[in-house]
Parts: sequence; structure tokens; C-alpha cells
Amino acid sequence: MIKDMKWWGWGDPAFVFPMDEKPLLWPFVRKSLGLTEDAPQTPPVDRAQVKLPERRRSADFEAAVAAFLKADQIAADDEQRLIHTYGKSFPDLFRVRRGIVSNAPDLVLFPESHEEVERIVAAARQTGVRLVAFGGGTNIVGGVEHLDPSAVRVTLDMRRMNRVLEIDRHSWTATIQAGAPGPKLEDDLQALGFSLGHMPDSFEFATLGGWLATRSAGMQSDAYGKIEDMVVALKLVSPAGTLSTKLTPKSAAGPDLDQVVVGSEGVLGVITEAVMKVHPNPAVKDYHGVLFPDFESGSEAIREVIGRRAAPTMFRLQDVDETQLAFSMKSPSTGISGFIQSQVKKYLKAKGYAQPCLMMVGFEGEADYAAEMRRKVLPMLKKHRGFHLGNSVGKTWAKNKFAVPYLRDILMNHGCMVDVAETAAVWSKLMPLYHAARNTIKEQFKKEGYPGYIGCHISHSYVDGASLYFTFAARQIAGQELEQYYRFKRLITQTFMENGGTLTHHHAVGYEHRPWMERELSRPGLEILRGLKRTLDPDNIMNPGKLILPAGPEALAPAPEFEVPR
Ligand SMILES: Cc1cc2nc3c(=O)[nH]c(=O)nc-3n(C[C@H](O)[C@H](O)[C@H](O)COP(=O)(O)OP(=O)(O)OC[C@H]3O[C@@H](n4cnc5c(N)ncnc54)[C@H](O)[C@@H]3O)c2cc1C
Repeated sequence: MIKDMKWWGWGDPAFVFPMDEKPLLWPFVRKSLGLTEDAPQTPPVDRAQVKLPERRRSADFEAAVAAFLKADQIAADDEQRLIHTYGKSFPDLFRVRRGIVSNAPDLVLFPESHEEVERIVAAARQTGVRLVAFGGGTNIVGGVEHLDPSAVRVTLDMRRMNRVLEIDRHSWTATIQAGAPGPKLEDDLQALGFSLGHMPDSFEFATLGGWLATRSAGMQSDAYGKIEDMVVALKLVSPAGTLSTKLTPKSAAGPDLDQVVVGSEGVLGVITEAVMKVHPNPAVKDYHGVLFPDFESGSEAIREVIGRRAAPTMFRLQDVDETQLAFSMKSPSTGISGFIQSQVKKYLKAKGYAQPCLMMVGFEGEADYAAEMRRKVLPMLKKHRGFHLGNSVGKTWAKNKFAVPYLRDILMNHGCMVDVAETAAVWSKLMPLYHAARNTIKEQFKKEGYPGYIGCHISHSYVDGASLYFTFAARQIAGQELEQYYRFKRLITQTFMENGGTLTHHHAVGYEHRPWMERELSRPGLEILRGLKRTLDPDNIMNPGKLILPAGPEALAPAPEFEVPR
């Protein structure tokens, strides 16, 4: 069964963020953002107030798909149109909460096979309707929103294509349909004794096809790689025909076409299935907390451990602001454990850990392997002044890791802007980039004259560098909420670009990052993408306006800064 998210926010409609269990959290938020008792409440509008735009229709397209899809695979009702209008960025949620859904799809289709996708794409090409592939709808860069106002807009919800089709135990690979959402995919693989090991924070709802289309990164990427490191072969249905890449571990037959499709964000076609590397379901998952006196020491520790090829499954190093936020989510300890904690705190403060940075480090695999890795890595962290807190912190983190995204809805109910920005850089540029981005945003809060929050963590690490993941938040400026958000997003992105960071490490481009694509890829690089688009989608029916603009007079204009979508 397909589980839809809240139409107005993140995640499972039945889940309530356990604010009551975290008495320190709300005071921390209020102080950081300067929220007063009488701050305006900004709940989403009533569902009944959300008016969808009139549906545009293509009788030819509808007749074509009705010939091979069942009635329950075609939806034109307002509920489905609403759920498929946006992803989950701040601008998406802000608009939907206000009832602004002018870009709703006209039709939502639920294909159940590769062949059905082929027939839908062929019908779209014949009739000129626009197609957007929709996985979990979790993206935060505008990836699933229809942008072409002149056309009939059809969304392809891939989530009925969610099965593990084949497992090759001998080769450690599994063939999986693209619409498989994280939990189903992992449950099905684990029932066979395997795991993909891809767990982004959006795991509960995101799908394999969405991960591939956006070059996603999971929490355990230090061991298993990003999604592009796991793919062995795939099928892409493009308007020019189906591309099936060859199932082979490595090849020298020209550029790697799997990697051309990975990150293509639905603009070249629809990924219907992929052969993925899998590994035995880990017997042990052992996560530990380690405190560092500052962000630099923690970062140096990761660099050394990974440089010496002793990579654990996960490193997640929070800066001082994010550590304070994390500590504010703890349930307060009482009695003897409360006493011990307060003594440890005093001791650490005296030793120079007054503003500590929290690292979570994970070891997964066979029991012997995980233990050996732990024995190797923890002393290396200690050398960089890492203070080992033990694995109870790790257990709490693992238990709560999917709850944190729900906090944003509460903040938005209290009139706050909150979103994230992420990048990656080589080690020699990482700390200067971190400080530049953090200072830029802090300065901007000062300039605008209100308090704000910016925190960061190192989320994925490599031999040559790492990614930085920032969260920023402030009170919304009434009447200018989107302009305010784009001002901050533009500033931080600009800072990434000027300081050697990539435009995006794993959230992809959508339309929100598109203005920087030429600076990211160079003009010839952009032309390569445009060439691919012309070849595979000559009529520009696949997710138009995302990732790149097609060549033409528009493309020659200077990269536009953010258009504020309404
Ligand atoms: C709270 C939260 C936490 C997040 N955490 C992470 C994280 O830890 N790591 C991370 O990498 N990302 C994260 N993201 C971003 C998002 O989850 C990823 O971009 C994810 O990969 C999108 O998958 P999806 O199935 O939801 O795709 P969608 O959002 O449905 O689509 C994303 C893009 O891919 C295209 N697409 C989808 N399916 C297909 C297909 N079958 N064929 C072709 N194109 C397709 C869409 O057209 C769109 O352009 C997070 C987002 C949120 C809101």
C-alpha cells in the first residue's frame, strides 16, 4: 500500500513529534529565534480552503492511457493532485500551507510495469503533455513541481513499482523497481538476508528512483557509498526509446551511461528499475558518541581516520550550534545518572570542552569486523581529543533519527522559516568554507536585525573531502516570507560557490539550484547536458525547467537569480 505524507508538511500524518519528552527543546528554540509568548500561530489553512486550479485536459492523451491502464491507475481528483503538487522544501510547504497550489498536476498516473511506463511516455510524446516522475515527493529543490503553464501536466507516481525483482546472491546484486520506498525496499531485501544500506533522513518516504535521479546520499555512505556508487545497471524510458545499460561490474566502453542517468532528475526519462549492489544484512549496528573541543579537531579526526582507510560506517560531526540543539533534545537525566552527567560536564568544561562538538560514529557488519573497526577508530579519535561518551548516546540517536524532520512543521506553525543547504569540498577548503558560510548567515541575521539559528554537521566523508550540511532558521518576515528565504538560500549558495564547494552534494538541482549550473559545470559542461536532453527528449516533455534550461535564446541570457514561485 502507498503511504502518502501529510499534504501540508513532512511525514506520516499519524506521527506526532514528542515535544513533551524534550522539555529543554522549546526553550532553546524560543531563545535562538527570539520567539515570544505571543508570537503569531501560523497553522496551515483548512483543507477545504485549498482550491485547485481548473484541470487542463488532453482528450487524446487520456484516451491513449485509458486503453492500457486500469481505472485505479488514473487519478484526477483533488486529493491526488494536491499531494503531488510539491516536494518538501520551505517554499513548497509555505505555499501549500497557504493553499497556493497553482502548479498542481492535471492528472496523476500510477504505472505498474516498465512496459506501461514506455506506453505512457510514447503517448505523452505524441500528444505533447508534460511528464514529471514522482518517487516519494521528498525533494527540496523544486524537482517534482510542474513548471510549464502552457501544457497539460501529468505526474507519474512510481510507487506501485516497488518490488525486488531478482536477487543474484552470487554477485551480491539485486534488481529493484524504481518506485520502491526505503522501508519496503529494505524489508524485502532483509527478508532475503541482504541490505542496500542507503538510509537518507528521508528514508521513510523516498524511493530508489528518486535517490538515483538526485544522486542521493544515505547516513551510512562512508561505508556503502552514495547511491551512484551502488548502481550496477539500470533502465531509463526516454521519449527517444528505452536505454538499458549493461550488467557488468566495470567497463571501458566509453563514458559510463549509468552515471549519465544518475542525477538526471527526470529530465531525460523515467528510471523504471536498477540493479544495485547489496551486502549481507549487518549483524551488528553499533553507534557511539564522541565529544570534541571544537569542530576543527573533529574534522581533522575524520580526515585522518578515513585517510588511513579505516572508514567506519558513519561519521556525523555536529558543530557547536547543532550540538547545542542536539543536547536540547535530550530527556533530562535525574538521580544518580543525572549526578554523574553533571560531574562529567564539569570535568569536560575544565578540560577545554566548554562548547563541545558532538560526533556520532557507527560500526556495522559482522560482530568481529565491527569490533575490530571500533578498536582501531576510537583511539584515533582520542588522539584528536575525542572524548568517548559510549554507545548509549548512539542508541538514542539511532532511535530518534527519523523524528527530527517532523520538528520543522512545529516551527512553521509558529511563523518560522527553516530549511537546509548542503555542499562538499576537499579537506583543504572545508573549514574555510564552513566558517565563510556560517559567518555570512550570522552577519545577515545581524543586518536584518533579528535573531536566527545556523548549525552545521559533516554528514558524509571521503578520502579527499567531506560534505557540510547547514540548517538555518529565523522568524518569518510577514508578507515577505519567500523573498526572505531566497535571500538566505542565495547567500549561502553563493558562499559555497565562491569558496570551492559544490552547488549540491546530494539534494540535486531542481529549479532552485539551476541558476548556478553554468558556474558549476562550465559552459561546455552545460552544453553536454543540453545535448543529452535534445537527444533523449527532443520535444522537452520530461520535467521541463529542471536541472538545465534547454538551449535557445532563454539559455543565452545570464543565469537568472531565483524566481520567487507563486
Ligand atoms: C526531511 C528531509 C530529509 C532529507 N534527507 C536527505 C538525505 O539524508 N539524503 C539525501 O540524499 N536527500 C535527502 N533529502 C532530499 C530527498 O529526500 C532526496 O532528494 C530523495 O532522493 C528524493 O527521492 P524521492 O523518491 O522522494 O524523489 P522525488 O522527490 O519524488 O523526486 C526527486 C526528483 O527525481 C525525479 N524522479 C523521481 N523518481 C524518478 C524516476 N523513477 N525516474 C526518473 N526521475 C525520477 C523527480 O522527477 C524529481 O526531479 C531529504 C529531504 C527531506 C524533506
